Order: sequence, then C-alpha cells, then structure tokens
Amino acid sequence: MTSLSDLPIRDDLRGLTPYGAPQAHVRVELNVNENTHPVPQQVIAEIMSRIAQALTTINRYPDREFTELRASLAQYLGHGLEIENIWAANGSNEVIQHVLQAFGGPGRSVLAFPPTYSMHPIIAAATGTQWLTAERDEGFYISPETAVAAIRAHTPDVTFFCAPNNPTGTPVSLETITAAYDATKGIVFVDEAYVEFAPTSHGTALSLLQGRPRLIVSRTMSKAFAFAGARVGYLAADPAVVDALRLVRLPYHLSALTQAAAIGALAHTPAMLAMVDDIKTQRDRLVHELAVLGFTPYESSANFVLFGNVADPHAVFEKLLSQGIIIRDIWMPHHLRVTAGTQAETTEFLTAIAALD
Ligand code: PMP
Repeated sequence: MTSLSDLPIRDDLRGLTPYGAPQAHVRVELNVNENTHPVPQQVIAEIMSRIAQALTTINRYPDREFTELRASLAQYLGHGLEIENIWAANGSNEVIQHVLQAFGGPGRSVLAFPPTYSMHPIIAAATGTQWLTAERDEGFYISPETAVAAIRAHTPDVTFFCAPNNPTGTPVSLETITAAYDATKGIVFVDEAYVEFAPTSHGTALSLLQGRPRLIVSRTMSKAFAFAGARVGYLAADPAVVDALRLVRLPYHLSALTQAAAIGALAHTPAMLAMVDDIKTQRDRLVHELAVLGFTPYESSANFVLFGNVADPHAVFEKLLSQGIIIRDIWMPHHLRVTAGTQAETTEFLTAIAALD
C-alpha cells in the first residue's frame, strides 16, 4: 500500500491534517454550526422552479460573473453595496482560499488570533501562506491595542478577524478592526460567518468598507441562512479586490444550479432567516443551563456555545454520540462546543449531558 509520505507531495503539506469535524448522520447533529431548521417549503418550491429553468441551458457554462447572484447578495447586504463590491464562491471556505491565493501565498504571511476557525490555518498552509499568531486578551477579546501591537510585531500581509469568533462566540469591536486597518498596509479580512446571530448593536464591518480598499468582509449562506448544503459564501470589498480575486478563481466556479438555488433563497430572505431569533433563544438557554450543570460556558454572539470545565471531553463526546447526539470535540483541552439547534434538539442535548455520570 502506498502511503501519502511515499508520494512526491509538497514538503510543506506533509505535516498537515485535513479539516477534521467527524460527519456522523445521527438524530441530533449539533457539531458544525448549521441552522438545524430545514428550508421552508414555499422557498423550496421557488428554488425548484429556478433550478428547472437553469436545467434548460445546462449544456452551457454558467454565468462566469454570476451577476444576478451578486445583485441579490448586494441587495441583501445593503450598506450601499453594488454588484461590483461582491464576490461569491462555493462556501466562504473557498472565498477565504481565493483571498489567500490573491493576497497571501509563498513568501507572504497571515496573522490570526487563536483559538479561531480551524480552517483558517489549513487554508493558509494549502496556499503556502505563513501562519502567524498572536494572543487574545482575557475572555478571548481582542482590544484595539492588542491588535495593533500584534500587527506592528509581525507586519503581516493579511490579518484575519473572525467576528463573532468560532469557537468562542466572542465579538470583535469595530474599533479593533479600524485600529488594525490603520496599523497595517496589508489586507484586513473579517470573517462574519455568524454575524446574523449577533446583537445588531455590535454592528458589522460592512459599515467600515467605504474608504477602506484593503478591508474585506466575508459572509456565508451556510449558517443563519440554512443553506449549508448549497455551498455559497461571499464577500464585500472594494471593486479592485474583486478584480484581484478574478485572477485566481477557476472560470465558472459557481455552477448554474448553485446560482439558481441561491438566487431563489435570497428572494425569500425573511423566511430563510425566520428561525434566527429562536436559535438565539436556544443559545442563551444553553449558556444558562450549562452553567447550572457546573460547566463554564462563554457568552456567545453566534449560534453555538463553547463550554469549559469538562473533565474528559472525549468521553462526554462519545457518550452523547452513543445516544445519537453529536457535538464538537474541540481542539481546546477540557472544552466542548455545541450548536444551538431547535428547542427540541437543545432539550435533548441538555437532558443527555445532565444525565451523564
Ligand atoms: N468561517 C467560519 C468562522 C466558519 O465557522 C465556517 C464554517 N464552520 C466557515 C467560515 C465556512 O463556512 P462555509 O464554507 O460553509 O461558508
């Protein structure tokens, strides 16, 4: 049997492990921060008719510029954004990859503040971008001073913020982002995958885009939008950034079916986002109940809760799994992460974890 190390693979990929969340199809799936409510029937009907229409020309390549999708996304985002400001790809993972292909790469670096989204360092490695890290403050916050000091120490080509942060749920203030922007000549990339779950008072980095051509804000339809299976992520930035991303994308990277489905879903934004308030209620309930059980949950602005004081996280993970409940056995010692699901799923999880010995 040939093993990976026998192959003439790039040296810098040898120590790497692929994205690791186990995919188990069980009764209660609370491990990868999806919206666990299915897409409403009336939206499915519209998506099906749009896909049927797209199939009539499926012998042809799709719109390479995905203009109609970008128009729908610009309209959803508001903030005066136009088609020219928008880019999309197969999930925000691919958006991040495009950004590092264009602005990172060999001889360049990206700075991040762990613990943060586990794909960020993997995409850095895959694109040959040096991964630099800096410490967070108490409670996983990043103050403007902390961000500026890290940027001055490392002079990265790209600085990543994840707001709210996965896996901690911590917000990043707009002051931190503007201070970071002013301290670097590089790109500042804000991953807002979970922003729809955050209090509106936290704001969004979209409001900072005007006059900041090196700022990029990415979003996804995989979380609040309940569309993870469709694989649609996107970003907003200066049109010159979009021009740069066109250089690294593969032509026709968004299939006609993906474009049709996403446009259909975006035509029903209120219905797609209808469950967000309920998910926030379940998240806050998780924080409260996990504390009552003696764990140390962190306040979260996202649709998941990180909790510590777990003596043997792997054992808890396995026991829950044996009952048909999957959560995330995170890479932080004595911690686990759970997605806020429906009320029934949240109850099942809380009942099961309370009953563990
Ligand atoms: N960013 C963050 C912070 C995430 O947690 C995730 C998914 N877990 C993504 C991006 C990628 O999501 P997708 O590729 O489905 O858009």
